[in-house]
Amino acid sequence: MGKVLIIGAGGVGGVVTHKCAQVPEVFEEICLASRTVSKCDDIAGQIERPIRTERIDAMDVKATASLIRAFGADIVINVALPYQDLAIMEACLETGVPYLDTANYESEDDPDFRYKEQWEMGGAFRKKNIMALLGSGFDPGVTNVFCAYAQKHFFDEIHYIDIMDCNAGEHGKAFATNFNPEINIREITKKGKYWEEGEWKFTEPLSVHRPFDFPEIGEREMYLLYHEEEESLVRNIKGLKRIRFWMTFGQEYLTHLRVLQNVGMTRIDEVEYEGKKIVPLKFLKAVLPEPSSLGENYKGKTNIGCMMEGIKDGKPSKKYIYNICDHEKCYQEVKSQAISYTTGVPAMIGAMLMLTGAWKGKGVFNMEQLDPDPFMEKLNEHGLPWVVEDR
Ligand code: NDP
Repeated sequence: MGKVLIIGAGGVGGVVTHKCAQVPEVFEEICLASRTVSKCDDIAGQIERPIRTERIDAMDVKATASLIRAFGADIVINVALPYQDLAIMEACLETGVPYLDTANYESEDDPDFRYKEQWEMGGAFRKKNIMALLGSGFDPGVTNVFCAYAQKHFFDEIHYIDIMDCNAGEHGKAFATNFNPEINIREITKKGKYWEEGEWKFTEPLSVHRPFDFPEIGEREMYLLYHEEEESLVRNIKGLKRIRFWMTFGQEYLTHLRVLQNVGMTRIDEVEYEGKKIVPLKFLKAVLPEPSSLGENYKGKTNIGCMMEGIKDGKPSKKYIYNICDHEKCYQEVKSQAISYTTGVPAMIGAMLMLTGAWKGKGVFNMEQLDPDPFMEKLNEHGLPWVVEDR
């Protein structure tokens, strides 16, 4: 039993709050805090259990530490933005409270997301005897656990991993992103990158693509991107020779993105506008639909999983582990679309395993460093069942 402080009341924060509320035997009390408190109140209003709500600017370490103390939190779930990761980790260190997030650190003026700064805090977390769990969403998160599960049960060595993320849903809007638009567009417009034979290889943005026949969805074109779980998996999966990440996009989405880039709307540097300085991408975020608003009319499914090839008992083996999630069912359950749902459920499960002691440690951990079995079991129980196929 414990008290959970959830920071960030966006699409993912809503799902985490709903899912924690469904497990009162673990999450005894819940506080949802964010920059705009009315968003916390709206989410709390959807839930029968009492949810405490607070306004917080999570960049302010002292204010966050005071809130952690005042509420008496036993764990902090950070589902605000990657910009806040280091500040919230500092507040956890100051108060001696375990930390969990779903996206690695990125600074506002540089879209180079990475684990470096968070890994460097490992010593401080060890010294404080507390655990920080990094990337407990779907990708990163469940995809790391799928790899760890395959490493534990199906392979002596995994040589090739292809992580494939397909969203075949339709939300009826001409252009919208499924999670925070600013973070999403920064990720997609970066150069592609993958790891092969010990080194990182770079590709032009969205230039490498191929079709794949996704179970329960059909053939979709998927594009090579750099994704953060690759950085930790290359360290932690034995015998790895190559790892790549692929995401599907429709032509309509890509055309909108190209136009926005061509006219300068995805720039992250400041421009002068009517005597004020504005960042075009932040302005674009303000006019695009909020990810949390997409759920109501979203139809279709997501399929996210890992295709893995390697060796077991001297013989070649190939396994595909994936989850299928239905946008409409997510909305019926927690008033959210499947991208927020597939991120929020693993965040709740990670926190549950930490609070119950099934996952424990001192320092900073990526998901694949912990025993995958209890996590895989909880995915089946809490709405994200998975399938293993021999290929
Ligand atoms: P949203 O933009 O919908 O929500 C972000 C929330 O954080 C908003 O409520 C926002 O407040 C709040 N926030 C922003 N800055 C601060 C601050 N300084 N202090 C307090 N609160 C703040 O994003 P999502 O819910 O879609 O995404 C949340 C996180 O989940 C992101 O880090 C994203 O990268 C990650 N993610 C991870 C995935 C995975 O599979 N691992 C997949 C999808 C998302 P306000 O309303 O005032 O703007």
